[in-house]
Amino acid sequence: MPSIFRLDPHLANLIAAGEVVERPASVVKELVENSIDAGARNISVELQNGGMTFLRITDNGCGMEREDAKTAFLRHATSKLRRKEDLEAIGTLGFRGEALAATAAVSKIDLLTRVEGALEGTRLHLEAGKILECEDAGCPVGTTIIVRDLFYNTPARMKFMKRDSVEGSAAAAAVGRQALAHPEISFRLIKDGELQLQTPGDGELLSAIYAVLGRQAAGEMIPVQSQWEKVSVSGYVSRPTATRGTRSNQIFYVNHRLIRSKTLTAALEEAYRNQLMVGRFPSCVLNLTVPLAAVDVNVHPAKTEVKFLNEREIFDCVHYGVKGALSHASGQTPMQLPQEKPIPQEPAPQRPAQSPAPSPAAQTAGKTGEAFRSMTAAEYRKSAPPPVHTMTKWEYEQVSKALQAGPKAEPSRTMVAETFRKPEPAALHSPVTRPAEETAQQRLELPNTPDFRYVGEVLNTYIIVEQAGEVLFIDKHAAHERINFERLMAQGTTILGQTLLTPRTCRLDAEEAALLLENRDLLLSLGFDLDGLGEGDLLVRQIPSDVRESDAEATLSEIAGHLQSGRIDTPTGLREAALHTIACKAAIKGGWQTDPAELRQLAAEVLRREDLKYCPHGRPICMTLTRRQLEKQFKRIT
Ligand code: ADP
Ligand code: MG
Repeated sequence: MPSIFRLDPHLANLIAAGEVVERPASVVKELVENSIDAGARNISVELQNGGMTFLRITDNGCGMEREDAKTAFLRHATSKLRRKEDLEAIGTLGFRGEALAATAAVSKIDLLTRVEGALEGTRLHLEAGKILECEDAGCPVGTTIIVRDLFYNTPARMKFMKRDSVEGSAAAAAVGRQALAHPEISFRLIKDGELQLQTPGDGELLSAIYAVLGRQAAGEMIPVQSQWEKVSVSGYVSRPTATRGTRSNQIFYVNHRLIRSKTLTAALEEAYRNQLMVGRFPSCVLNLTVPLAAVDVNVHPAKTEVKFLNEREIFDCVHYGVKGALSHASGQTPMQLPQEKPIPQEPAPQRPAQSPAPSPAAQTAGKTGEAFRSMTAAEYRKSAPPPVHTMTKWEYEQVSKALQAGPKAEPSRTMVAETFRKPEPAALHSPVTRPAEETAQQRLELPNTPDFRYVGEVLNTYIIVEQAGEVLFIDKHAAHERINFERLMAQGTTILGQTLLTPRTCRLDAEEAALLLENRDLLLSLGFDLDGLGEGDLLVRQIPSDVRESDAEATLSEIAGHLQSGRIDTPTGLREAALHTIACKAAIKGGWQTDPAELRQLAAEVLRREDLKYCPHGRPICMTLTRRQLEKQFKRIT
């Protein structure tokens, strides 16, 4: 047997470096991950000759103190891990403390770094892992690392490098993948002096996809958003009609860490089953949010593979999430909003004459101020966020069951039967003082019993009815909220209250509570009777009769929010905003189980009344699919 020697540290570092630093792309990945961990909002990557001779990563993250900067290049030096328990819940991209040491061991490095508040930054120069220079330097807050002549001292590794153009593309791809994982960070990539990629950093995944994968890919994507127990998946997948010959655009992240996983690939492709041709693959950019303790990220030197505590759960989450998104959007044209009939306008809240009319976007943004102005369909379309389709496994199964089995009896026990108040015709028809509504009022008095067929409810949210050759989808929460609101508005100056058997203590922010007490008169007129108990505590004796006792605190807090925002400055505006809150809190919620009889009644009310088009938020209540639209979709007519 030959004698055994311990490797000298330099040789050991070179061997270890081989695992982490395989090629320029892996250096880019590690250094960009460090910038992300450092909280950078802008990260710029520059390469020359495929990154083999020159690689510069600049970030505006937290920077490093001088002593930290020197330590950072030692093996197993990290600021991200202290105790072994930390390994069980790793929230940073780095944790092994190896990347800087490994990169430095096989290159020449210049580091420039400064922390906020320090007068001078630090410049370090290293070769083959040794710090040769350390001096003061003027530089912005953040860190710049320049890596020159990668593998200059490891000719064996150098031999494995491909052409510069190939290495350069791999490095560019590495930047793109990090950019897709972090739409909130603006990335720039400059290759041989040319800007190759720039993401806006606006937090929108779709704009990052547009910048990285291109316009066409972005146009072919459909959104995915789904929750499965403690795991959720969100992002985009390609339409079944837009596939590729390779899997290179199947991009998965777990808690924003880029990973490869056979489970995820299988789950994705399973969702497209029977929709793809052999040899064609879907694309995706999907991030899974998994509790830190349910995933082990420490199973691979380059951290590109992970181990899930529960593979099945992960598979199901992606499989059903993608399947749900596809079934919503597989080549179908989304339902159009009704455009025909003009919507009766409520009087808009007064605002100073000189202030310019806000844009539709501003109207939704400041919705507390504009809560009662109905939007036109066009405005709604312009300002609405792109639709995100959510379907959990459960919902998915419900829908497929319903589709397979045809109409089925709804469960008879409901959660809200007792809280759903039948629309009170007397109240609805009682004279309304506002002149703008007089015409609507007259119309309401006409006998109008709509002839319709109640089909059922889907996704515990949407009522489906058929009427005169049209299929109507009614959002049950939006509809109920609007009916409540109209009824409350019709109640006159004082809203009916219910005295609580035992007064209830509600805990709010001190400021919220103070504001509510200051406006006690307004609150009394809304049906609330309350007193201060000090700090944020309120003793509530009476609440509006529409509101459930358990919702009292949330309702008060939201009303305080209206008062706090300062956006609504007229008493009428405030009152309407508060009534809207009460109407919303008193309404049945999407996702709840509701008695079909109540839903039928709700539908009848919506159909009976022309003015029930939009909820007080401006969201539509009812959407229509005409026979013609359906026939066109199914190519019965052209
Ligand atoms: P790890 O990321 O696993 O901690 P690294 O070798 O990649 O190990 O980095 C070592 C340490 O250097 C990090 O823990 C971090 O404290 C510091 N560091 C590295 N890059 C940056 C950067 N761009 N900005 C601020 N600190 C950094
Ligand atoms: Mg790192």
